[in-house]
Amino acid sequence: MSSRSPKRATPRRSAPQASIPCTVCGQAVVAITITVDGHPLEMSACANCDTRSWNLAGRPVELRKVLEQVGEHAGRRR
Ligand SMILES: [Zn+2]
Repeated sequence: MSSRSPKRATPRRSAPQASIPCTVCGQAVVAITITVDGHPLEMSACANCDTRSWNLAGRPVELRKVLEQVGEHAGRRR
């Protein structure tokens, strides 16, 4: 019995930053790391299927939550 699941990739912690496969189509994505309020925010964008994922300080996050966190500091009104 050989059951392969092509879309299921085992998450590896020590993967090189240069080539991250897209979780949807498997193509290599372009990762850009920016620093937001002292935290490394990494955006991975797939040029093939336009899937984007966000990682804040090494953890996958939703963009909405990222914006909330950033907004706590940057969007302060007085
Ligand atoms: Zn893709």
